[in-house]
Amino acid sequence: MARPFALDPLFTSIKTLPGVGPRLLDLYEKLCGPAVIDLVFSMPTNLIDRRYSPKINELERERIATLTIKVDQHIPGNTRSQPYRVRCSDDGGVIDLIFFHPRRDWLEKQLPVGETRIVSGRVEFYQGVAQMAHPDAIGLPHQFDEIATVEPVYPLTAGLTHKRVLTTVRHALPRIPHLPEWIDPTLLKQRQWPDWKTALLQAHSPKDFDNLEGITADRQRLAYDELLASQLSLRLVRHYQTRAQGRSFPVDPQLKQKLITALPFTLTGAQERSITEIEGDMASTDRMLRLIQGDVGSGKTVVGLFAMLNAVSTGAQAAFMAPTEILARQHAANLEPLCTAIGLKTLILTGRDKGKPRQALLSKIESGEADIIFGTHALFQDDVHFKDLGLAIIDEQHRFGVHQRLKLSEKGEHADILVMTATPIPRTLTLAAYGDMEVSRLDEKPAGRKPIDTRLVSIDRIEDVIGGLKRKIDSGERIYWVCPLVEESEKLDLAAAEERFRILQDYLGPRVGLVHGRMKGAEKDDIMTRFKNGELDILVATTVIEVGVDVPEATVMVIEHAERFGLSQLHQLRGRVGRGAQASTCLLLFSAKSGETARKRLTTIRDTEDGFVIAEEDLKIRGAGEVLGTRQSGLPKFRLAELSIHGDLMQVAQNDARLIIQNDPQLKSERGEALRTLLYLFRKENAVKYLRSG
Ligand code: ADP
Ligand code: MG
Repeated sequence: MARPFALDPLFTSIKTLPGVGPRLLDLYEKLCGPAVIDLVFSMPTNLIDRRYSPKINELERERIATLTIKVDQHIPGNTRSQPYRVRCSDDGGVIDLIFFHPRRDWLEKQLPVGETRIVSGRVEFYQGVAQMAHPDAIGLPHQFDEIATVEPVYPLTAGLTHKRVLTTVRHALPRIPHLPEWIDPTLLKQRQWPDWKTALLQAHSPKDFDNLEGITADRQRLAYDELLASQLSLRLVRHYQTRAQGRSFPVDPQLKQKLITALPFTLTGAQERSITEIEGDMASTDRMLRLIQGDVGSGKTVVGLFAMLNAVSTGAQAAFMAPTEILARQHAANLEPLCTAIGLKTLILTGRDKGKPRQALLSKIESGEADIIFGTHALFQDDVHFKDLGLAIIDEQHRFGVHQRLKLSEKGEHADILVMTATPIPRTLTLAAYGDMEVSRLDEKPAGRKPIDTRLVSIDRIEDVIGGLKRKIDSGERIYWVCPLVEESEKLDLAAAEERFRILQDYLGPRVGLVHGRMKGAEKDDIMTRFKNGELDILVATTVIEVGVDVPEATVMVIEHAERFGLSQLHQLRGRVGRGAQASTCLLLFSAKSGETARKRLTTIRDTEDGFVIAEEDLKIRGAGEVLGTRQSGLPKFRLAELSIHGDLMQVAQNDARLIIQNDPQLKSERGEALRTLLYLFRKENAVKYLRSG
């Protein structure tokens, strides 16, 4: 199926618009993209209000005004450096229009003496006289309404002026076609959204600043369109790529009860909820593709075990893949006793296994002797054959993009997939980045965890802080001290950290270590090991402390210039302590120079340890790209939707997309046809290709 003809005028080059030649085309490509649609999807970010039109003697300085004036006299400058003045007046006052190096004949035609004209521009006062230099517009009296309007201002790039872009956009707008409605009529009515064309035209003629913020009905609708296109395409791809071949793993209640009895603790509500969600997925004949999110320590592993149970009780196998050897061994060691208790056979395979022992392991996997197989990515090598892999769990360290995830699920043949991540991300971002997956959230900590005592301390009190640390060290505790890295000046930061390192050594003696990003791996490992072993009491670090370090004896986290970190980063850093039996502390040192808002941000960290709450707050403050790191996250780039503003619409779009695919997976109904147009509008051809034509 090809792109609907109605979209053709939008998908032609910007150079088909009047006044745009090859040079301007280059600039527009840089600014927004090559096609007319790119231009009409550029939203104004500012406006110029020309509706202010007082009498000259009532003019306020430094304002843009549109004036009706009579031209009195042309006064050319005496020298080349003196400007050309055109003295004008109304019944109460006088204003000079100022021109540098004008074409005199043109000016005399535009502003003939004795005539009335409309001029618009910024007014200044010079020695008590009002003046306007190079008016933005000069017109005849009947053109007043045309000039005294609100002009949208678009993002610019060097070489493209405001006037130029405005003119080009004005030429592009009449190309916007009327398109069939793709939004559910109930939603449209409930939100009182205009139709697509009206919304787009309104968005390009903002009347005041509210119209620029994305909160008006027109902008909401346009944002929703984009989110719907994004969710629908993710779901379509998923629907057609991972549709199950009718495999179902129903719960075995007896085995499940056995495991519950064997657990040394009671499951949290969040764990129970996630397990139920997984059971639903696995019992159905659709293939599971689910993400479990939860802070470090929220108890994801055991949830994984319950999932594995479902596969195994039906006679299939389950694999649990960790990003590193250490983590794989840790999972195996933790879960093995539970597995044994309920009569399941486990095995672990990593890159370290070679030769004969490896062959032995492989044959146990192939014969089905092993029910549950732990390991690293070694599990997905070509010579590893499962007897019958029913479930693959991936404990995810780095986030995968959408496409990598799809590849991964192809590898598991028809296996269900469960991915785990310790990075809490806001709900709206989860939907944007993981819209093709179902998501469970472990937002509840197991009982008995000691809260981390988090405090904001002014850097002026650093001596008190160091004194306090001395007492901690004397009682055998260990300390992280993080100095921030500001990318623009790695050198300066390194110098600051080295300085801090020396100061701490002066106060506290030689048992202080320093790690920084410029060190070699082995050097870093050596220092980390000495800290872990207790040969060092304090670890000063410039970069974010290595993932995976687990030092339960570390009880204090000091973060210098905490105001320079993102909230999610602070949360991750704080998560390095509070892993042992002892109570832990986190000190956020802020600079006296940091502003009120920066300090207020830090109170969020002080007041909660809930990674999801912190991530939501972070999103509000920093925007989506910053929170996820757009490049590596697989987060699509939105042009009309801004997730920190339109986040609530994402959920609506997801539900809508789900219903659409449930009811009309081929997009054959009338609304389905309109939705195809929507997908093309946002260049989602790759999703449309799964649909049979017409
Ligand atoms: P995560 O993988 O989410 O970081 P883990 O699954 O490793 O966390 O769990 C951390 C620790 O908490 C483990 O020692 C685990 O046995 C324990 N744990 C898990 N769930 C509970 C619970 N409901 N109550 C008490 N302890 C729990
Ligand atoms: Mg884990």
